Amino acid sequence: MKNLALHWQILIGMVLGVLFGLGMTYLEGGKEIVEDWVKPFGKIFINSLKLIAVPLILASLIKGVSDLKDISKLSKMGGRTIAIYLVTTVVAVSIGLLLVNLIQPGNSISEKTRQELVENYSGDAQKYKDQAVKQKSSGPLQALVDIVPDNIFGAATQNKNMLQIIFFAIFFGVGLILIPQEKAKPVKSFFDGFNEVILKLIDLIMLAAPYGVFALLAALVVESPSVDLFKALIWYAFTVVLGLLIMIAFYNLIVWIITKKNPASFLKGISPAQLLAFSTSSSAATLPVTMERVTEHLGVDEEVSSFVLPIGATINMDGTSLYQAVAAVFIAQAFGMDLSLGAQLGIIVTATLASIGSAAVPGAGMVMLVIVLGQAGIPEAGLALIFAIDRPLDMCRTTVNITGDASVSMIVAKSLGKLGKPKVKDWDDNYPKK
Ligand code: ASP
Repeated sequence: MKNLALHWQILIGMVLGVLFGLGMTYLEGGKEIVEDWVKPFGKIFINSLKLIAVPLILASLIKGVSDLKDISKLSKMGGRTIAIYLVTTVVAVSIGLLLVNLIQPGNSISEKTRQELVENYSGDAQKYKDQAVKQKSSGPLQALVDIVPDNIFGAATQNKNMLQIIFFAIFFGVGLILIPQEKAKPVKSFFDGFNEVILKLIDLIMLAAPYGVFALLAALVVESPSVDLFKALIWYAFTVVLGLLIMIAFYNLIVWIITKKNPASFLKGISPAQLLAFSTSSSAATLPVTMERVTEHLGVDEEVSSFVLPIGATINMDGTSLYQAVAAVFIAQAFGMDLSLGAQLGIIVTATLASIGSAAVPGAGMVMLVIVLGQAGIPEAGLALIFAIDRPLDMCRTTVNITGDASVSMIVAKSLGKLGKPKVKDWDDNYPKK
C-alpha cells in the first residue's frame, strides 16, 4: 500500500469502508459496533483536519498577502477571483435549471411516494427550516457585518467564522505591506515558518487519510436510510449528479483552454482532495488538502492559492448552487406547480446568493435551500422529499465545490503569471514528501 499513489490509497479505503459497512448491516449488532468502534476514528480524522483550518488560513493568507508587496496587486487578484467565482456559480445554476426542466424528475414521483417521504422526514425538514429562519431573520446587510469580527481571538475559536478570519488575515497582511521592511521582516519570517509547520502537519494527517475515509464511509453506510426511498428519488439524484459531472467537465475544459494543463494531470493533481471532499462532505475540512494539492502538485503560487482557496471554500459553491436549483424545481414539479420563467430566473439569483451564504460543512446547502424555496414560493415541506438522499448528493456536490475552487485558483494564477511547475511530480506522489 505504501508505494501506491495517495488517491489510490484513499479510493481503496473508501471501497473497503463501504463493503465493511454493508457487511456489518447484515450482522446483528453490527451497526452499534461500527458506531462505537469505527465511527470515532472517522471523527478523529475530520477533527484533525478541521483543527488546522484556522491556523492554516491565518498563516498562509498573512504570508500570501504580505508577499504581494503592494496593495494594487491584492485588489487585482481580489477582483478577478470574485468575478470568476460568480461566473462559475451562475453557469452551475443555469446547467442545473436546464437539466431539471429537460429531465423533469419531479413528475415521476407518485402521489403515494410523495406522502410517504413527507411523513418520514417532516421532522428533519423542520429542523432545517428553523435554522434557515435564524439566518434569514437578520437585515440585508447582516452578511457584511458578519465578516468583520469584534474580537479576533473570539472569531478564531470557531471554524464557522472562516470569513472573519480571512478578513483579519488580509487586513493584517495589508498592515505588514505598509510598515517599513525591517520591522515587517521578523513578523513575516514567523508566519513563513508557521506556515511550513502547518503544511507538514497536513502531510502527517494525510498519512491517515485512507483509514479515516474507511471509518467515515463505513459509518455512513450503516446509518443510511432504506434503499427503497433512494429508488423513488433516482431521477432527481440522476439529474443532480449529471449536472455535477457536466461541471467537472466544464472545469477541465476551462483549465485546459486557459492554463494548457490537460485534464488528466489536473484531475490527478486534485483527486486526493476530491476524494476527501466526497468522504467528509465538507469543503472546510478539505481546505488544507486542497491548498496543499493545488500548490505542490498543480503549480499554483502560494500567494494565489492562499488567497483564492480559503475565500472559495466559503463563498464559491458551484455544486451546492446547482443542487439548489435542481432541488427547488424538482420539489415544485413533485407538488404539481408550474414555475414561470420569471420564477426560474429568480432561482438563478437566489441559488447563487444562497450558495455564497452556505457554510462549508455537511448539509449546509440544504439549510440555505429553504431560502431559495421561500423566495420562489415553493412549499418548504418539500424539503422532506429530498431528505433521504441528501447525504450522498452532499458528498458529490462538495467534490464539485472544491474542484471549482481549485480550477479558479489555477485560472487566477495563470492570469497573474503565477502558475509554475508543480513542486512534486505526480509519479513521486507519496506521503510524506521526501
Ligand atoms: N457540504 C457542502 C460543502 O461543504 C455544502 C453543502 O452543499 O451542503 O461544500
